Amino acid sequence: MNQLFNSFGRKVSLYIILFLNFTAIAQDSYVVTLSEEDPDLVTVEARLRLEDSLLRMSNFGPIPGNWAKYIHNLKVTTTEGATIAVKFEDSAKWKLPESLKGNQLNLSYTLKVEHEKTKWPGGIDGVAFVRPWGVMLSGRSLFVMNGYDKEKIKVRFNIPENWKLSAPWKKTGSSMHTYEVPNLIELQETLLFAGTHREVDIPSGDFNLKFILGGEGIIAQEALYVERAKSVLEYYIELMGGNPVPRPGSELSTAMVLINQGEQIDGEVIGNHLSMFLDPNADMQNQVIGWFMFAHEFFHLWNGKTLRFSDTTTDWFKEGVSNYYTLKAMNQTGIVNEEITKMVLNNLFYQRYRNDPGYGSMAPAEAASGFDKDNHWGLIYGGGLFAGICIDMEIRKNSDNELSLDDMMRALYNEYGGSEKTIDQDRLIELISEFSKTDFTPFFDKHILGSEIIPLEKYTHYAGMEVSYENDKLEFRPAGDISEKEKRIWRGFLGEN
Ligand SMILES: [Zn+2]
Repeated sequence: MNQLFNSFGRKVSLYIILFLNFTAIAQDSYVVTLSEEDPDLVTVEARLRLEDSLLRMSNFGPIPGNWAKYIHNLKVTTTEGATIAVKFEDSAKWKLPESLKGNQLNLSYTLKVEHEKTKWPGGIDGVAFVRPWGVMLSGRSLFVMNGYDKEKIKVRFNIPENWKLSAPWKKTGSSMHTYEVPNLIELQETLLFAGTHREVDIPSGDFNLKFILGGEGIIAQEALYVERAKSVLEYYIELMGGNPVPRPGSELSTAMVLINQGEQIDGEVIGNHLSMFLDPNADMQNQVIGWFMFAHEFFHLWNGKTLRFSDTTTDWFKEGVSNYYTLKAMNQTGIVNEEITKMVLNNLFYQRYRNDPGYGSMAPAEAASGFDKDNHWGLIYGGGLFAGICIDMEIRKNSDNELSLDDMMRALYNEYGGSEKTIDQDRLIELISEFSKTDFTPFFDKHILGSEIIPLEKYTHYAGMEVSYENDKLEFRPAGDISEKEKRIWRGFLGEN
């Protein structure tokens, strides 16, 4: 009997070993080849095990049906080399014979990077493009995939000798440009840059901010860009009490920021990464907008990815409070000063708020649902910012400036960071009331869940500032006698800890 068990045990372990080998082989892998002569032609060879009988491209992006337009010479063969018939279906899918499910096969295709020939709603920055200094590819534009549950996907790049490759994934194996990608979402929701660009890592513990700079004018200002990004990163980490923390099972250890030279300032977020076009010769106002975009999107790694929300009714907090901290960070790192801050508050936020079609008639909590989001930028981004200021001022006033919205952000970070839990409106009301020692339910009923205009003028008083709206212009004026406490609150408004 014992012997039988022993031999059974041996067999089982043999099967386990075979199975492990088998799954190791079955791991999907891609080889991506780029060339200097034809930077717009990217060839891809892949080995995939079929989870179902479809090859597909990403569902993400403004026009996902477009991804397949740039895929040419798609060929599928068995591991023995026999050609398999492939039928293209719309919405970027290719149908394979049903009988192949479970089999491994070889896939090859060429990506022609001419996406700029099409007009993309968000601009080309998050899609794919070629510049004299290299090629930008989003994972969405590059990968033809199979299935949904794949893990540990291997991606190897062949690049010209004098090029480098910037990718957010972890390197694996001995080859310079081989990566292991945790899952198909990370494969699609990424940005890649290959070329003669500059790459600068800004590490902070287990988190890495990877800066990618392309274009002569941008590289000439490398030291300035890196210095500013570093100080913004430091400001956020100190404010929140730590690095961004992902939800269980997702990745947040690297955020890439691509800054390519361009005439039009633009930016788009893909996963944890940001692709921007900046004009190094633009005027001051455009430079400020560029930096604002960077600092705002960057703060979402905390307020949006570390702190996650139950639904869109709290978008005023996710977007508006992120704007408030963006301004604070830019003040504290010297990107803007007090005068420019006041200008931005009027030009960018008050004007958009005041002219929002829902101004005075729609609740910010409702403005972000469904199709309304694009129409109510002013209520969510502007109104939300002003509501954030009111909350911060009340907390500061009632604690003799010992506490602020910063403390509440850290409390949220400790409670929600790295967990599956999401934040809802009631939890915000509860925490704001607790930190401000004031029942904020009436404020919410009127100004967040209701449509009454945010009474900024009432709250800036605590910081010794009078606010006026003459000629539909938001203006700040120091009040007559300003106490020490009011002065400290104003400095806190500008981001001082
Ligand atoms: Zn945002």
